[in-house]
Amino acid sequence: MRKALFPGSFDPITLGHVDIINRALPLFDEIVIAIGINSDKNYMFSLEERLKFITDNYKNEPKITVKTYSGLTIDFCSKIDANFILRGLRNPADFEFEKAIAQTNRKLSKIETVFLLTSADTSFISSSIVRDVIKNGGDATGFVPKSVLIN
Ligand code: ADP
Repeated sequence: MRKALFPGSFDPITLGHVDIINRALPLFDEIVIAIGINSDKNYMFSLEERLKFITDNYKNEPKITVKTYSGLTIDFCSKIDANFILRGLRNPADFEFEKAIAQTNRKLSKIETVFLLTSADTSFISSSIVRDVIKNGGDATGFVPKSVLIN
């Protein structure tokens, strides 16, 4: 069984994340979207809110579950028996950052990281810019799934 973990902050989930998740669905039997808890980070949305945005968006998708975790991502993969980590790549900065993490994870475990290249129409979307739009009263309709707008 091919089980992938898609880890991230999802503060909030965006249409960029949704694009990666939807395109990964045919590749895996199960995808666990996992919100990493990092006590050093200041989040705009609470863990409960971020969890709800994602669960509401995927409530009709049986192959997807949503969890939270702290500690090493590879340890959480072992705990839930996930054999792949899924990540999205937008640009060279993402590549350099992700390469070091994926290679570190390969040194520490047998878990393979699978990368999907961002789609042309969502490649510019980032949670940080979306937070700025929302904070300043802008319209985030084109950047986030409906679950973020209505909650
Ligand atoms: P993290 O704090 O771990 O980077 P994010 O929630 O920002 O968490 O991102 C989770 C994953 O989603 C990362 O692999 C990131 O590259 C990917 N991602 C974010 N936005 C996009 C996008 N617009 N297109 C493709 N991948 C994306």
